[in-house]
Amino acid sequence: MTVWRVGIGYDIHQLVPNRKLILGGVTIPFDRGLLGHSDGDVACHAIMDALLGAAGLPDIGYYFPDQDPQYRGVRSLELLDRVNRLVRGEGWEIGNVDITLVGESPRVAPFTQQMKLFLSRTMEVAITSVGIKATTNERLDSVGRGEAICYLAVALLQRD
Ligand code: MG
Repeated sequence: MTVWRVGIGYDIHQLVPNRKLILGGVTIPFDRGLLGHSDGDVACHAIMDALLGAAGLPDIGYYFPDQDPQYRGVRSLELLDRVNRLVRGEGWEIGNVDITLVGESPRVAPFTQQMKLFLSRTMEVAITSVGIKATTNERLDSVGRGEAICYLAVALLQRD
């Protein structure tokens, strides 16, 4: 009997000067980047929490505490790789992952295909199993003022 599990993930990071903007492992040219203990890749963080949640495991703060010096500046794709192995180690296959960016700028559409490539490779799924969408917050609140970028993610896991 096939068992299915869905998980949800959410993350937000502040946009600040003198940081690279990295989303889904792709460096996107912009005048600011995301503040964080890691590389600040908010897309990867939301996906990781969705995968962990679907597997009934603790969240990324449990596995990769942001006080831990070993995760300072770490590439979040590397952390996603670890989560992928963790989830698969529990006997799960990844069905699909779907994410939505909420932010005013920059426009990320030109980078979506590269993000899908990096994310699908890291999670060992077909590129068509990764959905990426983007919307704005209609200039409302901190995200709408361009002070932060957030991501929502859902993941579906399958076990036979
Ligand atoms: Mg985060």
